[in-house]
Formats: sequence, C-alpha cells, structure tokens
Amino acid sequence: MAKVKPTHSKKSNVYHDNNKCTERNNIEKENLQKGTGGNRKCNHCNNLNKRK
Ligand SMILES: [Zn+2]
Repeated sequence: MAKVKPTHSKKSNVYHDNNKCTERNNIEKENLQKGTGGNRKCNHCNNLNKRK
C-alpha cells in the first residue's frame, strides 16, 4: 500500500520501494541513497507490494 520512491543502501545490491520494509528502515542514514542504484528490487518489498 505504501509504495514510495526507490531507495537503496550503498552496502546492498537491492533497492526498496515500500515504506513498511524492515530492511529499508534499517538502512543507516549515512548509507541511504536515492534511486534504485541499478539494483534489483528487494524480495521483501516485492511481497509487501503484492498485498494491500
Ligand atoms: Zn525492501
């Protein structure tokens, strides 16, 4: 439900676009980057986006 602009961590090879994703919320501010970074989408975000 809560789809947001893509963000990713410098240290990760996936991006997140759901604000309920715990992995997204665990990204430290210093590592947080806007955009997809050319990464694939996080599986957790994929599952969250399928639900309402
Ligand atoms: Zn995610």
